[in-house]
Amino acid sequence: MHLFEDAQSAFSADYAQARDAFLHAASAAGARVGHYACPAPGPRGEALHTDTAWLGDPGARKVLMVLSGTHGVEGFCGSGFQVHWLRAGMHRQLAADTAVLFVHAINPYGFAWLRRVNEDNVDLNRNYLDWSRPPPENPGYAEIAHALVPSRLDGPEAAEADAVLARFRQRVGEVPFYRALASGQFIDPQGLFYGGSGPTWSNRTLHAVMREYLGQATDVTCIDFHTGLGPYGHGDLMSDHEPGTDAAQRVRQFWGDGVSEIRRGQSLPLVPDGPTHFGVTRALPHARVTFGTLEFGTYERELGRVALRADQWLHLHGDPTGPQALPIKQALRRQFYPDTADWKEAVLFRGHQLVRMALAGMQGACAQRGQPVRD
Ligand SMILES: [Zn+2]
Repeated sequence: MHLFEDAQSAFSADYAQARDAFLHAASAAGARVGHYACPAPGPRGEALHTDTAWLGDPGARKVLMVLSGTHGVEGFCGSGFQVHWLRAGMHRQLAADTAVLFVHAINPYGFAWLRRVNEDNVDLNRNYLDWSRPPPENPGYAEIAHALVPSRLDGPEAAEADAVLARFRQRVGEVPFYRALASGQFIDPQGLFYGGSGPTWSNRTLHAVMREYLGQATDVTCIDFHTGLGPYGHGDLMSDHEPGTDAAQRVRQFWGDGVSEIRRGQSLPLVPDGPTHFGVTRALPHARVTFGTLEFGTYERELGRVALRADQWLHLHGDPTGPQALPIKQALRRQFYPDTADWKEAVLFRGHQLVRMALAGMQGACAQRGQPVRD
């Protein structure tokens, strides 16, 4: 018997199964459960929801919030972890004045349709802006926008689009290329990595969840589960906190030297504003917020770009419920959810490790010493 023998069973085959598993595990654990109905239906016309589960002290001031499915299709990963944590009975080990708040499928549309984006073609992780200010500019995207999603995926038009991208890429280099492509854009509502024109339903829902559950909290730690960047199975905990701040120091205290600090350039692409980090930290001025974006590597990044382009083409020019959808959706799903036992086991190991460290950190423990700080 190995440590995560039941790893497979915590991970689901689709959104509906994931929701079912989450709600069953949450109610078996005695959680306080909440439901938020998404305005858009799933591919079979079914209703979609974001669900929440609160475990531990009902009035806890120390709260660990764990999000799954910010990028829709990436939800298989975070959902699997949440279900496994609940089934393992980890809530029984929570300290006094401490709670865990699971937010399941914050972008249920993307999860159900196997898309990164939401029902408005918005990348939720570019949408948590301060909307009272103009959105960040991305001149590189404007330069290549016309070549990113050709109206056919093969033939002369696709070849010309590929040539445009290759020339741009060679001229600016790899990092600026991915920054132009993926750091977010606010000029093309039908394009890739579109950040929206205002707070989307998922953004407003997360704010409603925080109002409902975190008004009394003084110490909030958040882990937002993602997939698709980095080496296969490796769970990179990335911090958007400004270097030198108390929060940046806390991230190291909680999670140790394995943290990547985005503002130090230790992780790419650099997104100036819009990730969940910014929405959560702005929404909780009354609390001490420690935020980590947890990114699990899958396959090489270029395959991700190709898979996202095909999916964008499918929803713009094809039929997302027709026969041509199947290979495109399969490739996208594999890119953001390697459905393999070793990958799931790695997700569970790292997920449990980081959650345990966050909970210990909120009790005053220091990651480097593995025990409570006494001096
Ligand atoms: Zn993601």
